[in-house]
Amino acid sequence: MTRPEPTSADMISFRTDDGLDLRLRKIGPDNGPAVLLIHGHGVSAEMFALPEIRNITDVLSDAGYQSWLLDWRGSCALPYNESGRPYTFDDVALYDLPAAVATIREQIGDRPLFAVAHCIGAISLSLSLTGGLLPGLAGVVAQGVFLTPKVSTSARMRVLLASEMLGSRVTHLESDFRKVGLWNKRTLLYAALSRKGDCPDPTCRLVHYGWGMGAKLFEHDHLHPVTHDRLAELFGAVPLSVLPHLRQMELAHAVVRWNVDDERYHALPANALDAASRIDCPVLLLAGSRNEAWVDSNRLCHEVLSARNPGVEVRYTEIPSYGHLDTFIGRGAALDVFGHIVDFLDETTAQITNESREYANRIVDGGNPGRPSAISGAGR
Ligand SMILES: [Zn+2]
Repeated sequence: MTRPEPTSADMISFRTDDGLDLRLRKIGPDNGPAVLLIHGHGVSAEMFALPEIRNITDVLSDAGYQSWLLDWRGSCALPYNESGRPYTFDDVALYDLPAAVATIREQIGDRPLFAVAHCIGAISLSLSLTGGLLPGLAGVVAQGVFLTPKVSTSARMRVLLASEMLGSRVTHLESDFRKVGLWNKRTLLYAALSRKGDCPDPTCRLVHYGWGMGAKLFEHDHLHPVTHDRLAELFGAVPLSVLPHLRQMELAHAVVRWNVDDERYHALPANALDAASRIDCPVLLLAGSRNEAWVDSNRLCHEVLSARNPGVEVRYTEIPSYGHLDTFIGRGAALDVFGHIVDFLDETTAQITNESREYANRIVDGGNPGRPSAISGAGR
């Protein structure tokens, strides 16, 4: 497979309103709808562009979509996890995602814009969307989790234990076992966190079981050997400052705002699930049938949204035998997963085109055109 090398014109830097420098990379045709890809925490936009597999940007390009890969502040390719000031997912929802969408819109004009988000990226997206901060998206795909985060009981206990054990002087969790060092005080702790699993590679054991959470982050056999051997490159440190927010959401089984009293965050809803009626575009919820990280969170989200918000167009697709991150980085994901995403984008795009055509016809006929409900653009 030959891919054009990224040029400087494909990399776009932008600054958030709270002063962080983030970046976007575009891949694929300059016409047609655009797709913002939002990675999970502690990895980077690279999870969508692995050169060793037929990745999602390849599949989207072939289907006529332009990918926009965002590195938000939780990206391991940026310095903020290890050396930035503490942040929560409120900051991602309030600052990073709206700034990224505004930057893309400056470039694509009124072409439709979708968002495809993984894990914590999807949680943050749900908070921005229900705050009305991303109006006029054409559609949203959320992988693993969306409005109703839920983990297994054993994972919940382990996260609590790990954060107690680490104590207040440790600010983040390493992913690369080599960085922990062999004769370091923390070595024993990391050895404990990575004790599960059969793989001889300690970095693999550490991230495979979610930094000791005990829940697998991917199906080991689904990885390409090249991907497996560079896990230390793909994963970075995770700041512990995000854990209380995550714990609060998991206990509520709903995405909630962390900064309750700080006025700067009042644009975000206190509870995203309660504000779900503000979602103004179709939603596809995806999950692997073996997702151990968020278990059946997205099935639950589908049930709750269908019952409570019949006005929100939502569907749920489960990918048999897939876990969590392998839905994007798995060597067979192009065959097993990405087709579901492209089908959703195609159907939604066709719906938008039809509505625009009917709208135009009504204007030509001289009647009242009404309002096109799914035309893209920030004007909606
Ligand atoms: Zn392994």
